Amino acid sequence: MVTLEWGSATTAGAVRPANEDSLLALPSLFVVADGMGGHAAGECASGLAVASFERLGTAPLTMYEILDGVRAANDAILTAAREDPTRAGMGTTLVGLAVVRDGERDAWLVFHVGDSRAYRWADGRLDQLTTDHTEVQELIDAGVVEPEQRHRHPRSHILTRALGTDPGPQADCQLVPLVPGERFLLCSDGLSTELPDDRIADLLPGGTPTEAAERLADAAVEAGGHDNVTTVVIDVVSA
Ligand code: CA
Repeated sequence: MVTLEWGSATTAGAVRPANEDSLLALPSLFVVADGMGGHAAGECASGLAVASFERLGTAPLTMYEILDGVRAANDAILTAAREDPTRAGMGTTLVGLAVVRDGERDAWLVFHVGDSRAYRWADGRLDQLTTDHTEVQELIDAGVVEPEQRHRHPRSHILTRALGTDPGPQADCQLVPLVPGERFLLCSDGLSTELPDDRIADLLPGGTPTEAAERLADAAVEAGGHDNVTTVVIDVVSA
């Protein structure tokens, strides 16, 4: 029996007129989506992505159901964009954490498309579990750009994968053990662009998941809040 506690925060930030991020927090399925394509379109794309996962419900899920959810989200965005030309080209990132059955036991499935991130806080250490699907990440991996230059690079926000494309993008998936005492964070790039990892590591531990989610979002807005900020914090209480 897996027991989780979670909390979330989402804000338009200090500059943008609207919040195009969407989030889902169900008892064993958590998703953050960061929409793009202009105000109403971005909101629509991230909302459609989250709705596709909401339909999966909370029954024990499999990796195949999650991958179906990614495909359904991509299809829903493409269909909506075809039906309304003002939404042509809209898309969204997606990062999620789901409790799935892995043989005899339950495990976390971490899945993502784009530059929304998942982090784990365990044994006093912060680990980024996802690798951004961005052009600048490819340049960092190739040794062309230093990681510290990430946010100053002119192509730092150009995604190499997003939902809303044909053919649909491949989601990266990995299984992670469910370990009591560990804390997980899902966030849009409005958090990770404003706060370096050592600042996230300072702010993520302590208090309830809701307090941590709000503390992180508040700090990102204080640091400039140039983009929408969404955080979902999940504690593994028992597994
Ligand atoms: Ca964003």
